[in-house]
Amino acid sequence: MKFGGTSVGRPERMHHIAGLVTNSSEPTIVVLSALSGTTNALVEIGDLMAKGDRNGAKQSIDKLEAHYQDFISQLVKKPEILDKAKAIVNEHFEFLNIILRISFSEALSKDILAQGELLSTKLFCSYLEEQGIDHLLLPALEFMTIDTYDEPQIGSIKVKLTQLLDKNKKKKLFVTQGYICRNARGEVDNLKRGGSDYSASLIAAAINASVCEIWTDIDGMHNNDPRIVKKTVPVEQMSFDEAAELAYFGAKILHPASIWPAQQYNIPVKLLNTMQPEAKGTTITAEAGSVGVKAVAAKDNITAIRIKSSRMLLAYGFLRKIFEVFEKYRTPIDMITTSEVAVSITIDNTMHLPEILKELEPFGTVEKDDDQTIISVVGNQIGLTEDMIKKLFGSIMNIPVRMVSYGGSPHNISLLVPASYKTQILQQLNKGMFGLE
Ligand code: ADP
Ligand code: ASP
Ligand code: MG
Repeated sequence: MKFGGTSVGRPERMHHIAGLVTNSSEPTIVVLSALSGTTNALVEIGDLMAKGDRNGAKQSIDKLEAHYQDFISQLVKKPEILDKAKAIVNEHFEFLNIILRISFSEALSKDILAQGELLSTKLFCSYLEEQGIDHLLLPALEFMTIDTYDEPQIGSIKVKLTQLLDKNKKKKLFVTQGYICRNARGEVDNLKRGGSDYSASLIAAAINASVCEIWTDIDGMHNNDPRIVKKTVPVEQMSFDEAAELAYFGAKILHPASIWPAQQYNIPVKLLNTMQPEAKGTTITAEAGSVGVKAVAAKDNITAIRIKSSRMLLAYGFLRKIFEVFEKYRTPIDMITTSEVAVSITIDNTMHLPEILKELEPFGTVEKDDDQTIISVVGNQIGLTEDMIKKLFGSIMNIPVRMVSYGGSPHNISLLVPASYKTQILQQLNKGMFGLE
């Protein structure tokens, strides 16, 4: 059972989830995020330190500490437990204050980011202790590891986690941190923003769990982005493939990589609402449930690159050479469309864009468009859905579409549009494809 930031973000929410996690008849591993707002605050603290603004960083640390002091005063009541909770908060803020005084590095910034999940799990355990609920804290840094390519390996996670669990066979309730891990150098690292979902799925895969429950602040995966479109509805069932496409193409409810571990080990994933536990939510399994379009999502900060060359005409090996450039700079390609004389590619990681553009130049004319958004229409066998193409394009005729990609998978049609059209296109698709206004 994984609980996100808002699910643990208030003392009364932590009280509430203690009830949810003790409801289960099976042994349970609880994966917690940091309290909502904490990771953002820690990012800011790290950024201020990196800029050398120690005063600014100190102010942010103090503000965050005051929040935690207030939080624990409402979380636990027994004096001896409150003392323990205070000691936990003091320990972690002392650590941040020490970091403030030493020279900043990339590795230290990861240590700073880890404090959120370390705090939330320890504080939750304090509350469990106060309630007399037997449990064990499993330190994620002892089993959650990534390799030299920053990829988690379920095999090694499984070995380490199984050892920890075998030592504690009598326990029924375990609590661990989402998001944080150790890298190949043994340093503290993380699974990128929103990574607690990924932790949960990796853990579920590693222990062959009966289910991976992602508890959040909404009743499942909705048909459209509820932050942008007013009327959205939850999707009851979808396949791993559909959920993976939605997560990858911007549905914030799931970390982009969080589906593959569950899919590989065929573990059902449920998206559930902490604030409304009786709601059905979304069940994700190998079965899609029904044919047709299920949802749309948007992925921002996309750059499109077009390489145009008459030498591409009837040539072979041209695409390989282009792909090799992206491979060399370890830059994943999201969308690709080709004509006989040009190829368009999108990327979201622009770290090596200048080098990439330079190396593409010998292949032809290279153009780039920043600030684009990928709109993905996702479903099961969407090509078989009657009128789908008509409804899709009929509802967005006024929008300048830069690229269209279909056929790569039977679950997805992706459109590339200038970012300024994102809200409009999501709203128009809501009406045109789902009949929702
Ligand atoms: P948590 O802190 O629990 O991990 P997140 O904020 O990461 O929660 O994810 C939940 C949020 O994802 C929702 O509150 C919602 O605003 C957003 N979201 C974006 N797209 C979707 C979608 N298609 N369905 C449901 N939620 C979505
Ligand atoms: N706390 C981390 C974040 O805010 C991880 C997570 O919440 O999933 O990104
Ligand atoms: Mg999240």
